[in-house]
Order: sequence, then structure tokens, then C-alpha cells
Amino acid sequence: MRRKLAAGNWKMNGLGADLAELERLATAPAPSQTDRLVCPPATLLSRATLVAGDIAIGGQDCHAAKSGAHTGDISAEMLTDCGASAVILGHSERRETHGETDATVAAKVAAAWKESLLAVICIGENLAQRDAGTTLDLIGAQLAGSIPDGATGATTVIAYEPVWAIGTGRVPTLDQIAEAHDFIRTTLTSRFADEGHAFRLLYGGSVKPENAADIFSVANVDGALVGGASLKADDFQAIIDALDAA
Ligand code: PEP
Repeated sequence: MRRKLAAGNWKMNGLGADLAELERLATAPAPSQTDRLVCPPATLLSRATLVAGDIAIGGQDCHAAKSGAHTGDISAEMLTDCGASAVILGHSERRETHGETDATVAAKVAAAWKESLLAVICIGENLAQRDAGTTLDLIGAQLAGSIPDGATGATTVIAYEPVWAIGTGRVPTLDQIAEAHDFIRTTLTSRFADEGHAFRLLYGGSVKPENAADIFSVANVDGALVGGASLKADDFQAIIDALDAA
């Protein structure tokens, strides 16, 4: 039985005062079937762990190397040292604006595992790929290239995030979400046999309190990676509640 996961990605948002939102989430009753993860900017990681209670704290990226001359980057070991237990890797914004390839992502995932960080690997097609009918080919290639051998459900989460749905308010149909998630599950079981059933599959892209229950009714959707709606405790809490009830 897979536990559900509600993960919040604050992206480059949040100052110290915004930790009050996290504190409010942390003081709400804990959901029974749902794990919670909040990934604030790196500048807030240490302070976030002080108010997060049962909520896991994660980074939004890490470098593949353990340390060295990489100005501005953060290693997996540094994230662990801050109290993080997870890291988002291969987010489309990093694939697009930092030129991250599947191989780059796979190297980062391996580095995260070495530090016992849960790797939340993001995949998803852009609008041109969706319109060209190549969505499943693309996400199949991303799964093959971004997940190193030896992945397990305990070390790795997959977030399916259509790029055209991120921050746009556009959401795929439930059939489109189901098609992608079923494909991801089948791909994982083909490669990892029974262990493929253990990976949690998150949907990401404009998840809001208003659409969360519908999205969580789809088979093989084990949770969500939430950007904008994770910044406000009330909105994220409503999504957590919808997930826990699904
Ligand atoms: C994201 O950045 O991973 C994301 C899903 O953003 P939003 O929820 O704002 O679309």
C-alpha cells in the first residue's frame, strides 16, 4: 500500500516571515494516510526545519558533486546537513532554464540517494510535444534517462508535470492524467518488476483546492507536487485534506 504524498514547491518565493504559513500547516492535525513535504528556497531550509513539525523539508535542486568549485550550487550533503530529507530534481524550470538533461538529472538523483534524500524526479511534456502526440514517447525517454538503476519506491518519487500546466491554470483532462500515470506505472513495473508498484506518482500542474479532489480520484495518482497553491497554508491544507480523503 503506497502512502500518499502532498509536496509543496515554493520555487523562488518566500522570506523568513513566510515560514508562518509552514508553521500553520504544521500545527494542523496530521493527515492519517498522507505524508507532507515542503520545499522552500535554500535560504529558508534550516529555519523551516525548526517550525515544520511532522512535515518533511526538502530542497529544490542539488549538484551531482559532493563539494567543490561550483559557485552558487548546493550539494546533497548540504541539504541533509540543513535537515532536509528530500529534494526535487529535474523540475521543468531547471530543465529549461538551466539546460538540465536526463543524464544531469540521473547524476543528481544518485548524489541525493547517497545522502539518503528522497528524490522527487519531475518529468512531463511541453505543449508542442502534447500537440504532436509524442507525450508518452517523451516521458518514457525521461523515465529511462532520469532514473538510475537501483531505484526503489522508498528512495524515489515520480512527479508527472505537463509543462503547459505549470503555473498556467490549465489542467489536463482526467483522461490525460490517467493515461500518463498508467503509462508511468507500466514503465516502472517493466523495468523494476514488482518494485515498480511501490513508487509514488504525483501529478503536478495548477493543482488547486477546487480541482484537487477530481485529480486525486484518478488511478495511480498518489499525490501532488504543488507550486503556487503551496504558498498559502489554507490552500495547501485544503489540497492535503482532499488527498487524505481520496
Ligand atoms: C510546480 O512548480 O511544480 C507546479 C506544479 O506549479 P503550479 O502548481 O504553480 O502549477
